[in-house]
Amino acid sequence: MKKVTGYAAKEAGATLDVFQYELPNIGGEEVDIKVIYCGICHSDISMIHNDWGMSQYPLVPGHEIVGEVAALGKDVKGLKIGDKVGMGWSSGACMHCNQCLDGKQHLCNSSEATIVGRHGGFADFVRGHWSWVIPLPEGLDMAKAGPLFCGGITVFNPIVLSGVKPTDRVGVIGVGGLGHMAIKFLKAWGCEVTAFSSNPNKTEEILKMGAHHVVDSTKPEALESIAGTLDFILNTTNVTLDWNSFLTTLAPQGKLHTVGAVLEPMAIPAFSLIMGEKSVGGSPIGSIALTKKMLEFCVRHNIYPTVEEFKLEDVNKAIKHLEDGKARFRIVLKV
Ligand code: NAP
Ligand code: ZN
Repeated sequence: MKKVTGYAAKEAGATLDVFQYELPNIGGEEVDIKVIYCGICHSDISMIHNDWGMSQYPLVPGHEIVGEVAALGKDVKGLKIGDKVGMGWSSGACMHCNQCLDGKQHLCNSSEATIVGRHGGFADFVRGHWSWVIPLPEGLDMAKAGPLFCGGITVFNPIVLSGVKPTDRVGVIGVGGLGHMAIKFLKAWGCEVTAFSSNPNKTEEILKMGAHHVVDSTKPEALESIAGTLDFILNTTNVTLDWNSFLTTLAPQGKLHTVGAVLEPMAIPAFSLIMGEKSVGGSPIGSIALTKKMLEFCVRHNIYPTVEEFKLEDVNKAIKHLEDGKARFRIVLKV
């Protein structure tokens, strides 16, 4: 048994309180991570509020974890005590279904999510299966690396999945935690990047992080002015926007891809897809192997999330800061 101290919501929408619990004896393939930093993703907020109907309480959020390996089961592969590691939304997969054998453990039907029915990283320790406990490349700054393990891979995966080319013109809707990382990745990828933001106060910082243009995401007339220009658009918001206007900004055969968990059904007129052979898609996080490649890409191009640091004990203040739209651009908790 291992005693863990974390912060938990006791019911939907509750503020987080100190919460202690015990982990059973470690399983053969399990790893305990001593958490050093943990990012706050909007999905943590959605889980606290049970927006997706799958929250179980008490709920310890936190799935953008970096730390050190503190304990190992006897069958763990590729890790040793003291290794610096990260873990994101997934903390386990069956490792024997076709998706897992194909290296797509993030699509495993029986995968385990770090904060669904088990406790996450707003705590001093968190447990995961060795496969999802990913070693940090030498020299990666731990204070900024946590958000790469959920937000980062979630926006990196669609770039690879959709075959985005360096010659493409691309758009990113919403410049929050995920969106700002997408802009940095797409800029390094070689693309011409248009950021769609609803907050004019962010414009200067968005241009500084590498976007070529900033367009108001809430003004159909602004979208109309760039009709037919973009090859790929990544939506990172969870709100209802004028999706048809965004489809209009796509060039023929362009794609609108959402990683934002839009809470209402998205209105997509069939003819906006048919004329111009356009498509719409979505994706969750990304594979273990691609997460490792993304980390290498970050080191190669010196890409880090822009973070604001709060102490774990100030987690409620940090959550309010994010909910008020003030985060620039990802909050990281220091444990
Ligand atoms: P975030 O930091 O809160 O950023 C969301 C951004 O959306 C905001 O910064 C804002 O950008 C924009 N936005 C918010 N309200 C808006 C409104 N009313 N109108 C227009 N724009 C608005 O959230 P995040 O952590 O990046 O997460 C974004 C979404 O991705 C969430 O739904 C989250 O659950 C989801 N997610 C999905 C996956 C996956 O695997 N698919 C993984 C992680 C997260 P501007 O100020 O620039 O407009
Ligand atoms: Zn997340």
